[in-house]
Formats: sequence, structure tokens, C-alpha cells
Amino acid sequence: MANMTVERLHELFDEYPDKENLMWEGVCHDCQSSVIITASPQPDGIHVNGGSVFEPKTNKFFLKCNTCYEKEPALSNFQNCEVYSRVVGYLRPVTQWNDGKQAEFNDRKMFNTQPES
Ligand SMILES: [Zn+2]
Repeated sequence: MANMTVERLHELFDEYPDKENLMWEGVCHDCQSSVIITASPQPDGIHVNGGSVFEPKTNKFFLKCNTCYEKEPALSNFQNCEVYSRVVGYLRPVTQWNDGKQAEFNDRKMFNTQPES
């Protein structure tokens, strides 16, 4: 998994037009030190400071500090969360469902069991 592309950064800026800079705050995937990564548009392109951002799945971000990025520029050993849900009477990982059932799953809505006050 390589780090985020410039195109994706532009997409994110388009999604949040009110934001001048994008910021990710968290811990480095490799060494667990805390990192703050910013992306700011400059006349010569988007400047990324503080480390690297990875997005193996849309809107699932992983961060790396500069030191770890220099050691290993690829993100490895990350794990996507496996989601099990009920389909035709069985609990199966959603990733193994057929396309039609996955589309139905994405249409499912959470409901609130608490009465509205
Ligand atoms: Zn690190």
C-alpha cells in the first residue's frame, strides 16, 4: 500500500471546500508515536508536513511519522476490520457476500431503540 496520491488529496479538498488545510492527528502505524500531519495547498502544489498518510480503504486513514516513512515507505501489516452480518440465515463476512447482497447491506440503516424524547 503506497501513500496517498495527489489526486486523492485534491478530491478531499473538494469534499471540504471550507477547509484551508487538512489535518490528521493520531499515532504512527509503525512506532505508535503521536503524529500530526497537515496538507496545505501552495501555489506550487499541495505541501504535506509531519509524515505520510495512507488510505487503504476510502476514509480509513493510517499515518506514518517521517522517520518510519524513510525506513519503510509502504504501509504493510495493516488489517481491515472484518464485518460479519446475517445473510440468508447465516452469519458470514460481508466481504464474501455477492454484489447484490453487499449492495443491500450498504442500504441497511441503523435504528435507534430509544424512544425519541
Ligand atoms: Zn513512526
